Amino acid sequence: MGKVYLIGAGPGAPDLLTLRAAKLLAQADVVFYDALVHPDIVALATRAKRIAVGKRAGQLSTDQRFINRTLTEAGLRYDCVVRLKGGDPMLFGRAQEEIDALNKANVPVEVVPGITAALAAAASLTTSLTKRGVSRSVTFVTPRIGHGEKPGQWIDSVIRSDTTILYMAVGESEEVSGALIHHGVPANTPIVIVENASLPDERQIRSTLGELSSIACERIIGPAILCMGQVFESVPALQDNELRFTFFEALKTPANS
Ligand code: SAH
Repeated sequence: MGKVYLIGAGPGAPDLLTLRAAKLLAQADVVFYDALVHPDIVALATRAKRIAVGKRAGQLSTDQRFINRTLTEAGLRYDCVVRLKGGDPMLFGRAQEEIDALNKANVPVEVVPGITAALAAAASLTTSLTKRGVSRSVTFVTPRIGHGEKPGQWIDSVIRSDTTILYMAVGESEEVSGALIHHGVPANTPIVIVENASLPDERQIRSTLGELSSIACERIIGPAILCMGQVFESVPALQDNELRFTFFEALKTPANS
């Protein structure tokens, strides 16, 4: 029996992967990867069988129970199994279901953290989520309702927090802003939507909670996150992304060639 590594692939840019993740990918016998993982990261698993188990909103996805079963079987068969997930595996990634299934089958499991989308967005916006005197709490929340959860529970989380980062929310911008304003969150609360955080085609859309529904029709194709709170009142303009990408390309070229 081997071990299954649940690895965070980070928000998108391949050079935001941890060194530990890169080492394990190079050793992997088999890799199961999500749709949002950058192909350059999957390509690091040079000796592995690579299997896409993609999940992208509105598209066909692999059933979670099937993933749990396949991972367990692979763990029983191979030495080094990697399950690559976008961002950090422990946030909105259904990691617990996979960990529970592996524990049940006595397959050893280890988690390697990754940079979550919220922190990549904060970096791009060069805005601290805990700016002194403005915010002393941050909430990562999704308005998506999971099995057995109460609708509206997410609203309380937003109200209790100074800074809020909403995952899987941009497609429902109109409902999100309507519900929050209805529960007393000021319509002038600053909002920034960050699409494709950390990637060369990143886009940032600045607005307020009250105006959120009118920008909901902006064509957002990539994964996007909704950042909300006073810390986003005066975010600087988007930095030049080209630079970061060039940096990664340079990393890929061996120094002595
Ligand atoms: N485990 C992941 C989140 C998975 S849920 C993490 O830690 O980041 C998928 C949601 O994450 C998307 O709907 C979007 O809201 C957000 N997301 C993922 N990658 C993103 C990116 N590069 N830019 C903006 N949002 C992103």
